Amino acid sequence: MSSPVIIGMKVHCNACEKEFPIGKKQQMLLVEDKPIVCKGCNSELIMSSAQKQRFLGFDNPAKYLMLVSAGLGLLGVIIFGGTFLGLLRSDALVLITVAVTVGGNLVLGSKLKNATKHLMVDLDPKLPRDGESI
Ligand SMILES: [Zn+2]
Repeated sequence: MSSPVIIGMKVHCNACEKEFPIGKKQQMLLVEDKPIVCKGCNSELIMSSAQKQRFLGFDNPAKYLMLVSAGLGLLGVIIFGGTFLGLLRSDALVLITVAVTVGGNLVLGSKLKNATKHLMVDLDPKLPRDGESI
């Protein structure tokens, strides 16, 4: 089974109301019904089956934005590398590249924020089971 990894995924803690982003490792733990630790209150949080269904239904809108971002970064490296090696001798080209990579990443950053806004699940604190020592 391939676990989905959602870029820009966030969780909401039902215990302390804190929202925080989670990465691949934490997403995989949640899919496997294992707890993750809240960054706000240090509770162990688990994903209910209803939230899990939502999570598994998420698309990954940030994926192509990350590709564009990587492309911009690569372009920057090529232009700066070329300039450094003396292959390119155009200051204007360097300035344009700086403007495009910096501006592009700013636009991407806000796009990313909007695109991933809805990617959040509510997590409940894990309740100690009967007989389980705390
Ligand atoms: Zn919390």
